[in-house]
Amino acid sequence: MSNLDIDLLVKDILAQSAQAGISLTPQRAHGAGFESVDAAISAAKHAFIDFNASPMSVRKAIIDGLRVALADDIPEMAEKAWRETGMGNVSDKVLKNKAALENTPGTEDLATQALTGDGGLTLFEYSPYGVIGAIAPSTNPTETIINNAISMIAAGNSVIFSPHPGAKDVSIWLINKVEQIIFDVCGIRNLVVSVSTPSFDSTKEMMVHPDIPLLVVTGGPGIVNMAMKTGKKVIGAGAGNPPVIVDESADIEKAAKDIISGASFDYNLPCIAEKAVLVVESVAQPLLKAFDANGACWVQDPVEVARLRQLVINEKGEANKSLVGKSPASILEAAGIDFNGSPKLVVVEVGADDPLMLVEQLMPLLPVAVASSFDDALSAALRVEGGNLHTAIMHSKNIDNLNRAARVMRTSIFVKNAPSFAGIGVGAEGFTTFTIATPTGEGTTSARSFARLRRCVLSEAFNIR
Ligand code: NAD
Repeated sequence: MSNLDIDLLVKDILAQSAQAGISLTPQRAHGAGFESVDAAISAAKHAFIDFNASPMSVRKAIIDGLRVALADDIPEMAEKAWRETGMGNVSDKVLKNKAALENTPGTEDLATQALTGDGGLTLFEYSPYGVIGAIAPSTNPTETIINNAISMIAAGNSVIFSPHPGAKDVSIWLINKVEQIIFDVCGIRNLVVSVSTPSFDSTKEMMVHPDIPLLVVTGGPGIVNMAMKTGKKVIGAGAGNPPVIVDESADIEKAAKDIISGASFDYNLPCIAEKAVLVVESVAQPLLKAFDANGACWVQDPVEVARLRQLVINEKGEANKSLVGKSPASILEAAGIDFNGSPKLVVVEVGADDPLMLVEQLMPLLPVAVASSFDDALSAALRVEGGNLHTAIMHSKNIDNLNRAARVMRTSIFVKNAPSFAGIGVGAEGFTTFTIATPTGEGTTSARSFARLRRCVLSEAFNIR
């Protein structure tokens, strides 16, 4: 039978089936086109089998391909994320996505360790898990997908994403793009998948699916705790409330500028962004004045501060979700406070145990508390951080104080004399990540965090020293 005969036969069968109301059209879903979690995971599992049989050069080619092919899409991506979520701002989202695309490590992160001796050669190698279930937040939806996709593919895995329902359109658009780029590079379909209508239910279904050996959860405490209860291996990147300590030795002008840069970045959406300041008494007024002089709006009237508190913290003691990631101007307007121009940040002075200090707000409203000494500031910073072991920042020229705070805070990221985003490789050394695994301890994750460490032993050979 010729190819033409086969085509005619297939057309005939399809026509007869259509007449009988039966659809025989093959299901060719890929990327974020799956109707069910099960189908998406099954496709990613098949993709993993092909990928696992491919050489390392394929992984490298995929990552190079993503870095080039997604570069021009970043402005559109940032705009889409901002429109859909209504949070943050486009120009900072461009910077965040660029950092994720350009500065997430690839296969070079999987450094092999080798031991040789009279007993032979032993290798320690980073190997893939299989299909990873990755949950992304609404605050960095596309950044997390880019960052996780590069890291997880570099480590040889396939991945099913559970995008945040509040950012599902931009996430699905991006997952489809990423999947297509990967297919164009290596001919493997479905290394990156998602269901077409992500929901809280589909996230739950994905979390308990037997073919998912590893969950990587970037989000608030609710979803991280839920993942921990599945009994699976979890890399949990949870909430933070990063305090900034400013002691008497700090360069106050620089500290004010750095804190404004970090705390106003994407309207304070990053989990690492400065959320509360503890300043030693002798430099408190100079710091507050420097905030005001460098573009922040310092609200001093106690009645207005009380109005801001009431607006931002709800009766359950949680942040008012409708103001998360809104501009300083919208927060001031909502509180009925007059202001000039377009402030970069709103600053208020409060007590160290004020709810504004202790609650993760994710808004460009920065509370500042005055401490009587460095010791006092450090113990208040510990309370503000709340045991999240996430991020802390300090401005000081006193090595002893810096050293003590770095040890005592025990955070996954500790930034000295720079804006918080220096901690994810923006304006400082180090790679970028948008999944900072705090409760589970992996810290700033990269490809090796998403790999199993395996030991490969050859006895009595290949010690060639
Ligand atoms: P979120 O917790 O609302 O959502 C995260 C993910 O969990 C989403 O994909 C969502 O679909 C899912 N989810 C949430 N509740 C669920 C439920 N009941 N059932 C099933 N799925 C559920 O997070 P968000 O508000 O988008 O993100 C902000 C939080 O994430 C902040 O607390 C922030 O600090 C944290 N965060 C942490 C990191 C980090 O690297 N540590 C990075 C970004 C954000």
